[in-house]
Amino acid sequence: MFQDTASALFGVAGLQVTDVQAGPGGALEVWAVTDWPGSAACPDCGALSDRPHETVLARPRDARRAGDPVDLRWVKRRWKCTEESCERRTFTERLPQVPPRCRVTARLREQAAREVAERGITPAEAARHAGLSWPVVHDAFAARADRVPGPAPAPVAHLGIDEHRRGRPRWRTDDETGEYVQLADRWHTCFYDLSGKQGMLGQAEGRTADDAAYWLAGAAPAWLDAVRVVAIDMCTIYASAVRRMLPGAVIAVDLFHVVQLAVKTIGDARRRAVREKYGRRGKSGDPEYGVKNLLVRNLENLTPAQFAKIIETLDADEAGQQIALAWIAKEKLRAALNLRARATGSAPCERQVRDRLFAFYDWCAQNEAIPELLSLARTISRWEDEIVAAVLTGVTNATSESLNRLAKLEARMAYGFRNPASQRRRVRIACTRGARRNQSRTATARRTRLVSSGLPNPG
Ligand SMILES: [Zn+2]
Repeated sequence: MFQDTASALFGVAGLQVTDVQAGPGGALEVWAVTDWPGSAACPDCGALSDRPHETVLARPRDARRAGDPVDLRWVKRRWKCTEESCERRTFTERLPQVPPRCRVTARLREQAAREVAERGITPAEAARHAGLSWPVVHDAFAARADRVPGPAPAPVAHLGIDEHRRGRPRWRTDDETGEYVQLADRWHTCFYDLSGKQGMLGQAEGRTADDAAYWLAGAAPAWLDAVRVVAIDMCTIYASAVRRMLPGAVIAVDLFHVVQLAVKTIGDARRRAVREKYGRRGKSGDPEYGVKNLLVRNLENLTPAQFAKIIETLDADEAGQQIALAWIAKEKLRAALNLRARATGSAPCERQVRDRLFAFYDWCAQNEAIPELLSLARTISRWEDEIVAAVLTGVTNATSESLNRLAKLEARMAYGFRNPASQRRRVRIACTRGARRNQSRTATARRTRLVSSGLPNPG
C-alpha cells in the first residue's frame, strides 16, 4: 500500500516519491525516501532504532519508464543500533526490492530475466536494453528458468521423443594413420507432451537408449502407466528405451518420416538409373531431371498436365521405367498411410492397413531388380507394427518436431552455446513458453486499491 498516487505509479514497495524532475538525455530523475515499517530494525538483533546516524544517497539502477531511463535517487538513513548487547553499531535501511549493497532494483533484474524467458531474446540483448551486465541478467534468468518445468509433469497420454544436436561434431586427424577421429558429437534428447499443452516435459543429455531410459526411470510409476502412445522418429535407439521402460505403451513412428524415406528412395533410384543411362550424373536438360520435383509431390496434388508429363517422360526408356516403378512404390506405401482418420474422416481398421502394406511389399518384391525398393521394403517391414500403430492412433510427432525447431532456433540466436547447462535451460524455457501462456490466460484478474489516502476513486 502506498501513501500517495505518485509513489503508487512509481511502484517500488517501500519508497515514497518526493520529487520528480526531467534529467539530461530524456532521463526521469525520481527522488524518494523510505516508507517501510521494518526499515529501522537492526538486521542483527531486530531491535527498532530511533537514533538516526546520517543520511546517504543511494542510486540503484531501475527499470525504464515508457522507454526512457530512470535515474532513481533514494535518500535513505543510516541508523545506530540502540541495543547494548548488539555487535553492530550502524546499519542502513533496506527494502525487499533493494537489498543492502544491491545496485539494481529487484524488479529490473526480474524484468530482464522475464524478457529472456518470455520474449525469447538473448541475455546479451536484454542486458543491453536494461543497462545491466550479461552475468547479472544470466543469473537472474537462470534462477527463473531453473524452476521450469515444475517438479512433476501432469499425466501425458501421448509422449513424443526427439533429439537435437548440440553444436557440431568435432574431428581431429590421427597422427599415425592420418584418418579422421571424432572428438565430440553431443546430442540432447527431449521429451514432449503431444496430447496436452505442457510443451517440453524434460530433457536428457546424450541420445543413447540408456540416456532416454534414465530420464524415464526418474518419472513416477503412475505417470509412466498413464502413457498410452509414444511417438518417435524411425530410430531403433528410442524404440528400445521405450520398450524397456514403458512396456504397456504402443510405439508409433512419425508418418512424415516414413513418406520422406520413400521420397528419398525415388531420388536414389533416379540417380542410379540416370548414371547407368548417361554414364554421368543428371543435369538440367535431361528429361528425368525435369520431372524430379513432380515425383516428390503427392499423386492427388498433381494436375492432369503434370501427371501426363511424368508418364510421358518415364515411359520413354528403361531408365525412366525404373524411376516410375519406385514412384509407384511410394504411392502404394502412401495408400496405406492415407487410411488414417485425419485423412479419411473415419476410423481405419488394422486389417485394411496391413493389406495395403502387403500390396506395397508385393510391388517391391515384383520389382526386385531395383535394389532401392528392396531396402525400402525391408526398412518398412521392420517398422510395420509401429507404422500401423501410427495410422490407427493418428498420433504424430509433429509437435515434437515443431518444438525441436524452437530448440534449434535458440542455439542459432545464441550463436551456439559454450555451456551445455545454459543450452538446456534456454531450450527448456523456449519449449514451455506456450504452456506458461496458457496458464496465465486462465488466471482470474483481481482489483486491489493501491493508495491508502487521497481522492476517492471516481469509478
Ligand atoms: Zn543490533
